[in-house]
This record gives sequence, structure tokens and C-alpha cells, in this order.
Amino acid sequence: MKHFFLTLSLISVLISCADVSKKEIKSTVNKKDSTTIKHIFNTALTNGQCYQWLDVLSNTIGGRLSGSPEAQQAVEWGEKLMTDLGFDNVWLQPIMVPHWVRGEKEKAYFTVNNTKINVPICALGGSVATQKDGVTAEVIEVKSLDEATKLGEKLRGKIVFFNRPFDDTLIRTFHAYGGCVDQRYAGAMVTGKFGAVGAIVRSMTNSIDDYPHTGVMSYGDLLDEEKVPTAAISTKAANLLSEQLKVNPALKFYFKQNCKTLPDAPSFNVIGEIIGSEYPNKFITVGGHLDSWDLGDGAHDDGAGIVQSIEVLRLLKLNNIKPKHTIRAVLFMNEENGLRGGKKYAEEAKLKNEIHIAALESDAGGFTPRGFSFDESGKNYDLFMSWKPLLAPYDLLDINTGGSGADIGPLKSETISLFGYKPDSQRYFDYHHASTDTFDKVNKRELELGAASMTSLIYLLDTYLD
Ligand SMILES: [Zn+2]
Repeated sequence: MKHFFLTLSLISVLISCADVSKKEIKSTVNKKDSTTIKHIFNTALTNGQCYQWLDVLSNTIGGRLSGSPEAQQAVEWGEKLMTDLGFDNVWLQPIMVPHWVRGEKEKAYFTVNNTKINVPICALGGSVATQKDGVTAEVIEVKSLDEATKLGEKLRGKIVFFNRPFDDTLIRTFHAYGGCVDQRYAGAMVTGKFGAVGAIVRSMTNSIDDYPHTGVMSYGDLLDEEKVPTAAISTKAANLLSEQLKVNPALKFYFKQNCKTLPDAPSFNVIGEIIGSEYPNKFITVGGHLDSWDLGDGAHDDGAGIVQSIEVLRLLKLNNIKPKHTIRAVLFMNEENGLRGGKKYAEEAKLKNEIHIAALESDAGGFTPRGFSFDESGKNYDLFMSWKPLLAPYDLLDINTGGSGADIGPLKSETISLFGYKPDSQRYFDYHHASTDTFDKVNKRELELGAASMTSLIYLLDTYLD
């Protein structure tokens, strides 16, 4: 049964590809380009190094939250690696980053018929701690910021439980994330001013499991006394709590967390470049973010994007491709809780009057390549779409306008083309910001295919843009 459907759907995919190809293969399928791209994929798949680098970044250094000793180790690792690879210039760009620490592991439980049920939670990044002994209160469950705001003064003294789940019918999981993440970001901001004593947020994932997912939150312009502790609760625990609240609306929830915000700490973006042969003063940037959350080892988010970006420059060299423009690999610091690295990189580019013609970010996991989305003025739309037949043999079929990446966003202008690498998204939010984001979840071949896809795009951008 399964095989029958698989075969049918495969055939229909092949037929639709053939249609696309016939319509779109014009003169742009240049023999030289298709040979170069084939060589890029061959070398990535037989002589790739990005998987071994990710092993070190994930397993030797581990989670690397901004300001942590691990983040500093990652900076040193990236600088040494790109220097050893013989890139023309490698340097550190200094920045100051927010420095939030989780402290001792969080605890939470609720009590039903005198039985204590422990539940997995984790503090959200930027949250304040609970008082020393924790906080205990009745719970009000809501499904949105709006619903919480309408309750207003009724929230006083309560723990507000944001429990709107991912919409599982959405095929692209980033859309489900986008539809829920306001609860995590602004749950405490909205409820603190009404005198709530805490905000608990359902983890941002499709998966129903016992792993809480952290992520950044904000208090906006709340006064210090209005800032309440906020945490993510695992989806399994969220379902259980919701069920129990229906039976016993007066149940009490307890949680304790010990996180705090320290003064900003010094850190760096790490930059490596190959100087362009024709236009050394025009730049194409490829990057990911070097910092990660602290619960896992940040293998998918965004260790994958980091090693792929470095691999792009290595694959260009290995294939003896001498780029016309200067190609930079940028390991951005502090995407997760501040974006200071991305902002600094764009600021300095402006200050030095650097001309940035294109940038590509990989920050959606190290999964099987699907394509790229791009954000530009419209001037290059036809050109980018004309590359589809060159990329289709590598299953890079999803090429269209859309977002790019948080770190390269600040470079946006009328003249730059920004790209986001798009891997398959089905498993990303199983691991995103959770203790399960570890090296063993990354498939070597998928990671290498991603690096080759990105290198091919950088090659085309370098070849066809002025
Ligand atoms: Zn990320």
C-alpha cells in the first residue's frame, strides 16, 4: 500500500519537474555552470569537512549562549579553523552582547488530590528569577495575548498559562511557529502589568514530548516591579495541566527558577574572506549564527549554518573557483537574544562604505535541501528564477521570494539581494531551542548537500551579479 502511493507520488513529482524544466530551460542552462555545480556537489559529498567540524563545535564546545565561556571558545575555534583553511583574511569584529545565565535547573509541579506531579519547564531567555523559594499560585489558561489582555485585573495573583498549540495542518512548520511565538515573546510583557505572578508558555513545537523549548522573551518597557518570571513547559505537561484544570480549576502550580541578567559582555563576530579577483571591494556574505541556546549543543540551530558557511569558502577553493567578488563567511554572534552581531556587521559595512551585493544565511537547520527564498528589489527576479533548471537536479525546487535570515536582515537595502537557505522543515521544531538539539540529530549527507547547495548559489551570484 505504502509503496504504491510512494511510486505514484514520485511519478507525479517527476512529471511536474519535467514540465517545469521544459518551460524554464532557456539559454541560461550554461554547460559551464552545470559542470561547476556538479563538481561542487561531488566534492562536498566525497571530501566534505563540515560534519567533522560540527562534531567539534557541538560535542567539544557545546551550547554557547552569548557571553558564556563556550561562546568565547566557539569564537576562538572559528578563527583558528578559517585561518588553518588558508582564507585570505580572518579577523574578529568586537561587539558587546547581553549576558543572561540560567543558573540552577528549574523546578515545577502541580498538585492533584495531594499528589505532586512534577513537570518539565525551562526559563525563557531574558526572564527574571522567581523569588528564592519559588512561586505558587492558581492558574488561568489562555490561548492568546488578546485573551489575556481582556482578562485584565482577573490575572492578579495568578500564573497565566499560554497554551495555543502549533497548527499541525500547516505544511511548513515555520508558519506554525510564527503563529504561536508571540505567546513566548510577549506573554510576560502582557500579563505582568496586570499583577500576574508568572507566565508559563507551551513549548514551541509540533512534537508532544517531555522537552521544554526555551527562546527569547521581552518585557518591553515594563517597570522592574511588573516583571514576572516566565518559563516554557513541555507540550506533554501542557496537555496534562490543561486537562487537570478542567477538572480542578483551583489547582495550584509551583515553579522556581534562578536565572539572571548580568552586565553586557564582550564578544565577537568571526569573519573569513576570499578576496575577489575583479571586484575586491564588492562583497557577498554567507553566514549563520555562532551563539546557541544552552540546553542542547546547538547542532541544528545554528551549528549547521556555521559549518556550512565555512564549507562554502573551502569548496570554492577546492574546486579552484576564483570568485570575482570578495566572498565572506561570517559567524554572527548573538542572534538568539539580541542580534548584536548582525547589527554590528551591517553598521561597520555602512561606516566603511562597503558595497554588499548579496548575502545568504543558513539558519533553518541542517536538513535535506529544498531551495532558497530571496528578498530583493525585484530587479534580479528573472535572473534568479532562471537558475531553477541548474538547481533542480539537486532537488532545489523551492526557489521564490520570501524571507532571508535574521543576521543578514540589517544589511537590507535597495541594491542588495538577501537569501535564506531552505532545508526541509518537518523535524526542525522537534529540536529547536531544546535539550534535544544535539549532533546525533544531524545527518552527514543532508548537511553536506546543504553546504553544496549554498556554494552553488554563491557561485551563481558571483558569476552573474556585477
Ligand atoms: Zn537560529
